[in-house]
Amino acid sequence: MTPQKSRPAGATYATTRSNDTPIDRVLHRLDKVKRTAPDKWIACCPAHDDKRPSLSVKQADDGKVLLICRSGCGVAEIVGALNLEMSDLFPGDRRSLKDHGTGPMRRPFDYRDCLTGIAHEATVARLIIEAVNRGEAMDAESLDRLALAEERIDDALRAAGGVQ
Ligand SMILES: [Zn+2]
Repeated sequence: MTPQKSRPAGATYATTRSNDTPIDRVLHRLDKVKRTAPDKWIACCPAHDDKRPSLSVKQADDGKVLLICRSGCGVAEIVGALNLEMSDLFPGDRRSLKDHGTGPMRRPFDYRDCLTGIAHEATVARLIIEAVNRGEAMDAESLDRLALAEERIDDALRAAGGVQ
């Protein structure tokens, strides 16, 4: 898997093969990708001015892609900067994901995006817990990331109207 170093400006990837995987979609759009483990990479974060690669990319067992920026960029910002959608991080047919539930009316709040974001945060938490379960020490970075996951889920709840 080699990252595309140069790509035409403003290129759209609407014709992306439907059999590509979430990790391919993401890695092909990132710069300075370096593989650090069979299922882990680091790259420059596209959502902030990243001089030193600080975006960690992980592929979960089920094919989901996790994006964790050490500077704290949200996954939605990173996905947006890559010209992708949240659903691109999940395996499956993108078209059906996109078309599903898209009615003629524009909804002010996109529950699907919101839930996808929550699913991502839950997976992040699971991976951290799995690492601890394997005997890896819980470092400050992981603790911070867990706190951030909680914060983002709280934000999503608030955006959805909060608790009654
Ligand atoms: Zn970032």
